[in-house]
Amino acid sequence: MKFYSKILLLFMVHGLAILGVGIYQIQALYESQESAFKERLFIESTIVQRRFETALDTLRKTVDILQNAQEVSTGMLSHDVDLLHGWAKLFIPKYADTIQFINAKGVVIARGEAEFRFGDNIKHAVYFQKAFYHHTFIGIDMVDNVPMLIVARHIKSNTSAPQGVIAVAIELNDEFLNNLVIGTHYGIDFHSKATDAQKEIAHDAIPLHTALDNGSMDDINVYVQLKSHDELDAIAKTRTNLLMGFIILFIPFGILTHSIIFRYLKHYNTFMELLFDFNETKISVESFTNTVKKMMAGNTSSEVKKISALFLKIVQKMSETQAHFLELSHTDALTTIANRRRLDDVLEMKLKEASRGVSLSIILIDIDMFKKINDTYGHDTGDAILQEFALILKNSIRQTDSVGRWGGEEFLMILPMTNNKGAIELANVVQEKIDAFRFILDIHLTASFGIATYKTHDTERSLCKRADDALYRAKHLGRNRIENETA
Ligand code: GH3
Ligand code: MG
Ligand code: MG
Repeated sequence: MKFYSKILLLFMVHGLAILGVGIYQIQALYESQESAFKERLFIESTIVQRRFETALDTLRKTVDILQNAQEVSTGMLSHDVDLLHGWAKLFIPKYADTIQFINAKGVVIARGEAEFRFGDNIKHAVYFQKAFYHHTFIGIDMVDNVPMLIVARHIKSNTSAPQGVIAVAIELNDEFLNNLVIGTHYGIDFHSKATDAQKEIAHDAIPLHTALDNGSMDDINVYVQLKSHDELDAIAKTRTNLLMGFIILFIPFGILTHSIIFRYLKHYNTFMELLFDFNETKISVESFTNTVKKMMAGNTSSEVKKISALFLKIVQKMSETQAHFLELSHTDALTTIANRRRLDDVLEMKLKEASRGVSLSIILIDIDMFKKINDTYGHDTGDAILQEFALILKNSIRQTDSVGRWGGEEFLMILPMTNNKGAIELANVVQEKIDAFRFILDIHLTASFGIATYKTHDTERSLCKRADDALYRAKHLGRNRIENETA
């Protein structure tokens, strides 16, 4: 996986984690709100029921008082409207909205209320029927087309047949219902008059009849619904929106993120892959350097350009150091001309060329009686003389020639494209130069020379052996001499 794909994956995982936490939080909020909501619903439903019970209790007590008052029974029998009205006024409007005194025929003989009407026949009203024939009605019914909470009881004096009904009622108007619990939707479902909407809401309603002790309220349900249901819906909606929004945005966001990351990091990636290849030696230093140079010249980010420049610098430094060490390993420390190892390499190379027909000669040169110099003037002077001697040799050769320290006070000249005659000539020139030169402390020196020229099948060893033999002969024959190889 490319590293920018990993970054993308990381982004996506982060996104999902944040979404998960978000949804979890919203869900937690929803659940806590929901349980708080249920608790409130329960409490407020209880309050509503209590209010109804209190209202009924008041009505019941009012009926009890009226029923037990001898004056009221007498008044009903004698149709004493003023008396009955006077009694009714004791309770209206504080304890009831309406009080009806109804005779056995179902005619309202007196009413206790502001307009003081009477004479209505209500013998078909449920509350009258139930109270007259079954003693009591407790429940909701229509009075003058207005829904009312009613407690009605029949009046019995000495005779066994009921003489009439006293009905005490509270109007279930908006004022009464609104005072139940502020901020609560209410509903009352009685008989079959409930609207469809009410019936629908009544599905979750709390039945009131359980709080009542009379079966006549069987048809009644009081349902309570909290207005704050909207808040709960809003939370649920936020949760859905968040999830849907994420699903809709996930893919375009992913593509966008990928393209941005890719755009910014592809140069890094290319560069890194180049480094990996370089590290695994899949590419050479040269091709690495060239590619880096191309990258620097091309359209890449400034950071990559800087890193490229840095790497280029490092590689360059490395090459320089390597070259320096190579040079050192090929150089004689004292005289700074080629050392024995370098001479071996050059000789090997030149022998190959010689085997293809290029002429090649070598001259082995040894300073005469050098030990005596050291003994007489000291080792440091000996060193200085070796340096001066090396310089003379170096300045005597052509560019294609090589000279190096073969060991001690012995030097080797390698002369490609030089035949035996040419080598002898050069040896003579060098001999003359040494003879003419005055070394440090005005010392005069001589040297002996052994010359060998390449022959077919020659090896380094065989060629050097002949030069060495010639040098030995020069020493043997009195030094300061040039001796050629013997045929
Ligand atoms: P010959 O004419 O037979 O060559 O006599 P020689 O004294 O030159 O030869 P020999 O092999 O007897 O001695 C070589 C001397 O060169 C011995 C050694 O101290 C000296 N020598 C070798 N390398 C160095 C060096 O790096 N510095 C100095 N100062 N002397 C060196
Ligand atoms: Mg020697
Ligand atoms: Mg010597």
